[in-house]
Amino acid sequence: ADMPNVTLIEQCSVQGFIQRQGRVVGVDTKQGEQLAEQLVVCGGAWAAQLLEGLNVRLPVRPVKGQMIAYQAPPGLVQRVVLKDGRYVIPRSDGLLLVGSTLEEAGFDKATDEEALASLKRSAENIIPALADCPVAHHWAGLRPGSPEGIPFIVALPDFPNVFVNAGHYRNGLVLAPASTHLLADQLLGRKPLMDPTPYQPTAARLA
Ligand SMILES: Cc1cc2nc3c(=O)[nH]c(=O)nc-3n(C[C@H](O)[C@H](O)[C@H](O)COP(=O)(O)OP(=O)(O)OC[C@H]3O[C@@H](n4cnc5c(N)ncnc54)[C@H](O)[C@@H]3O)c2cc1C
Repeated sequence: ADMPNVTLIEQCSVQGFIQRQGRVVGVDTKQGEQLAEQLVVCGGAWAAQLLEGLNVRLPVRPVKGQMIAYQAPPGLVQRVVLKDGRYVIPRSDGLLLVGSTLEEAGFDKATDEEALASLKRSAENIIPALADCPVAHHWAGLRPGSPEGIPFIVALPDFPNVFVNAGHYRNGLVLAPASTHLLADQLLGRKPLMDPTPYQPTAARLA
């Protein structure tokens, strides 16, 4: 959608921060320098890597999740079903999503047969009729894991114009509206939507 005063630059990897007189003034990218008065580091599982460039340690790590999707007859499942830590989610096109694994595997996003078998076992235990349905897709993503799964939404103490919004772990989609609102409140100096304290990098959370 068109947004006035917003330029979206896609497929543009940030390679480092540009500092002048101890202040961050922008980022170096494959497409050249981008200068800014305020910056937000929202690199998900990669946020900690980015912040290393400022000597900031953020306890956010990649946690791999593999999922599968069955091609099932429309209407076979009509609600989200949760069982034993796994879930089945029906989509209107008949695809049934089944997730997910939780794996500490660094930045590796490969899928494997063991996870496929485990996800199929869970799915067919929940919905036995799935044994007759083909698996149409199998993929993996990296969650931004953080202590207790609580994100960091904060300005960096040593670089007050650099903000972090990262570490949403398993709930980044559902938390997106509120965490982005809280971040925008801090960027603009507005009264925060909620108490920002739980999202700050206290010594206990960094330990
Ligand atoms: C299998 C699976 C199932 C999930 N299910 C759910 C669910 O049901 N509900 C839910 O709420 N959440 C779910 N999540 C979690 C959710 O996907 C994450 O919490 C969310 O995507 C985090 O959002 P983010 O924007 O912080 O990070 P990301 O979505 O990972 O986005 C970070 C972006 O930064 C980019 N980036 C990284 N480094 C650089 C760089 N140097 N330069 C430029 N760009 C860079 C990356 O390419 C990426 O596009 C699931 C995750 C997985 C893996």
